[in-house]
Amino acid sequence: MRRFEILEPRSIQEACNILAEEDVKVIAGGTALLILIKQGLFVPKTLLNLKKIKGSGEITYNHQDGLRVGGLATIYDVESAPAVREHYPLVAQACHVVANIRIRNMATIGGNLAHADYQSDPPAALVALDASVELTNRNAVRTVKLTDFLVGMYETGLARDELLTALLLPPPPLNSRGTYLKFTTRSSEDRPCAGVAATARYSGGICEEVRVVVGAVSPTPVVVIDRDAVQGKELTSDVIEKIALRAEAAVDPIDDLRGTANYKRHLVKVLVGRALAACVPTEGLR
Ligand SMILES: Cc1cc2nc3c(=O)[nH]c(=O)nc-3n(C[C@H](O)[C@H](O)[C@H](O)COP(=O)(O)OP(=O)(O)OC[C@H]3O[C@@H](n4cnc5c(N)ncnc54)[C@H](O)[C@@H]3O)c2cc1C
Repeated sequence: MRRFEILEPRSIQEACNILAEEDVKVIAGGTALLILIKQGLFVPKTLLNLKKIKGSGEITYNHQDGLRVGGLATIYDVESAPAVREHYPLVAQACHVVANIRIRNMATIGGNLAHADYQSDPPAALVALDASVELTNRNAVRTVKLTDFLVGMYETGLARDELLTALLLPPPPLNSRGTYLKFTTRSSEDRPCAGVAATARYSGGICEEVRVVVGAVSPTPVVVIDRDAVQGKELTSDVIEKIALRAEAAVDPIDDLRGTANYKRHLVKVLVGRALAACVPTEGLR
């Protein structure tokens, strides 16, 4: 049996003080970390359990600042929060397809982002919505764009003495649609083989802005089509097909247990086409 100590701070400040002074490893839901410990890949001396910090998973929204999700909010808290469902349905959709309800009830959004496993669902949707993360140490709080935070496979911009204390989303654009599509190759509850998030903003039925982000095929989410690519056009099937082909050419997938690079490249084309088709405006957006 492996023995280790667990510290249970009651506030972010207390947790940051411990992080600054002691050699500890942060644990939140434990869904990723406990697997590493059980497999012997990580042997902790002391764990810093964040789950006893009250209010650290709070979710708040206002029209000026947008959404703030405390780092300790579970994936289920995020997908079921009324503000998320109403203003950021794309995020609710991406969180809802993570694993199964047991995992989503334990796993935190902070843990998902800090662990930075490339085969994850929320990051693509969050990058599509221009998310940032709030990082806190004992002396300061800084905000970093999620695209800069996710540096590589299991690699982030988190410093050793920092906690991920919140996920931040700007106010959602008006007249926009978004969707997240996940494809799994093993079971429906498995991590994604590929995931695509797409958003489109319209004026008078004409596209003003599109963003397509591919997740789970490369070390970090890939923004394949940004803002202006289809500006001033209608999202016809020809335009969608061109973008899907462009996305297929833009990605450089990793071969892994869930699929070969060639298979994933093909998947990206299919998923991008489907995701954009789901973003074609309805009457209400014209
Ligand atoms: C069976 C299974 C299926 C899964 N399927 C999916 C899936 O389909 N899609 C998907 O996206 N994900 C999937 N996951 C991954 C899951 O989403 C992550 O394991 C989870 O979100 C990690 O959160 P946690 O709170 O459990 O993190 P923990 O395991 O507690 O921690 C993970 C890492 O993050 C660090 N950390 C945690 N919180 C913070 C914080 N606030 N500040 C700084 N560092 C922190 C820890 O030190 C550790 O290094 C699956 C996991 C399992 C076990």
